[in-house]
Amino acid sequence: MRNGWLWSVGVIGLALSGAAGAADAFEIDTLATSRGPLRITCIGHGTLMFEVAGKVIHVDPWSRLADYSRLPKADLVLITHDHADHFDPVALKAVTQPATRVLANGVVAARVPGAVAMANGRTVTYADITIEAVPAYNLVHRRPDGTPFHPKGVGNGYVLTLGDRRVYVAGDTENVPEIKALKDIHCAFLPMNLPYTMTPEMVAEVALALKPAILYPYHFGDTDAGRLAALLAGHGIEVRLRRLQ
Ligand code: ZN
Ligand code: ZN
Repeated sequence: MRNGWLWSVGVIGLALSGAAGAADAFEIDTLATSRGPLRITCIGHGTLMFEVAGKVIHVDPWSRLADYSRLPKADLVLITHDHADHFDPVALKAVTQPATRVLANGVVAARVPGAVAMANGRTVTYADITIEAVPAYNLVHRRPDGTPFHPKGVGNGYVLTLGDRRVYVAGDTENVPEIKALKDIHCAFLPMNLPYTMTPEMVAEVALALKPAILYPYHFGDTDAGRLAALLAGHGIEVRLRRLQ
């Protein structure tokens, strides 16, 4: 969950203290889709901003990583689960405008007036973007009392279908069967910090099942992303390393 975020905050903080504006402080990639270009802003850790077809989608906005007053307001917010590095009411308030729609897992939706509760498997269509909630949970990694960090049936990942491209943001999960069975994923964001999410070996297993063209390790804390790149070398998957510790 929080492993490594302090490092990330340090990097972003330095960037923000420079001459560049908030939006310039982050790495941005663009992905071609039949709905037009998808602009991906890598905010940090498990937090992203997507812009496509004139819509702004914030994923797990977290005010420790960005000054949201300087980023575009949301048309859509996706929240994966209630841990503090994913559900931040301060950031959510900062990105919300009257028309903003919030999709969240049930625990978070119960705390956000007007939010749509997304149980695992639920699909919602917004402005020709289809958003499917997929399971996100631990099989192996548990708290000292034996409960998983992320119990089955609580949290979500999301698959966004943007015309001919499907983008998967996994949330906090391990290499569970439901996610390895996803189809036609072009671009995947997979978490890789311990003990809360996956080892590089687990991420590689998911990646080899999904075969995305592009893989972003994210939420990776101090895990060695080079290890993941080595595991996936020669498999035709572009491993994109960004400041998403
Ligand atoms: Zn987390
Ligand atoms: Zn978590």
